[in-house]
Amino acid sequence: MRLKGVYQSLFKKYGRQKWWPADSRFEVMVGAILTQNTAWLNVERALNNLKQATALSPKVIIETNHDVLAQWLKPSGYFNIKAERLKQFCHWYLEHDSYDGLKYKRTARLREMLLSVKGVGPETADDILLYAFNRKVFVVDAYTRRLFSRLGFVEESIDYESLRAVFENELHAETVKIFNEYHALIVMQGKEVCKTRPLCNECCLQTKCKKLGVVT
Ligand code: SF4
Repeated sequence: MRLKGVYQSLFKKYGRQKWWPADSRFEVMVGAILTQNTAWLNVERALNNLKQATALSPKVIIETNHDVLAQWLKPSGYFNIKAERLKQFCHWYLEHDSYDGLKYKRTARLREMLLSVKGVGPETADDILLYAFNRKVFVVDAYTRRLFSRLGFVEESIDYESLRAVFENELHAETVKIFNEYHALIVMQGKEVCKTRPLCNECCLQTKCKKLGVVT
């Protein structure tokens, strides 16, 4: 099994990643929204601002003045847009009775509901489904596309849903724990080794890779 083989090589090299780094399900959801178009370090700064203001709750976020919220979110970039999106997400979340009101929804339905919230795209929805609701959906991102196109498994131009289907079809018998770990391992590999300029000499996937030594 090609994808399982890649997973095993990455896991052997990097070990458990313990994702998602958060103290609560709601923090995962907020982090998934704030991580759009920015590095995780910036998200952590914004999350810390919310924590220090004891504002990491949907009710408090809704009740907070837009400008104040935007200031707290400033480190994560696009802070006015993110403040608006976060408020909209929190309205939706509370309207559906939070986690307890959503946890029994079928995965496809919950995904559809998440995608109906303004500012929640496929990657954000799948982050929330996998890491907050523990659902077996595969999160794909730019690291996934780059790594697996270099390995020769898919075309670089593959769209989000087709790439997600490649993983979900081939890994359908695996556990949600594997889905959780796999995405985190791909991010690690993309940041550390298979970068824009890949460090092929340090790569644990050399024997599986079609682009070994070709990308410079
Ligand atoms: S061998 Fe190079 S191009 Fe291939 S996956 Fe590893 S780092 Fe990326």
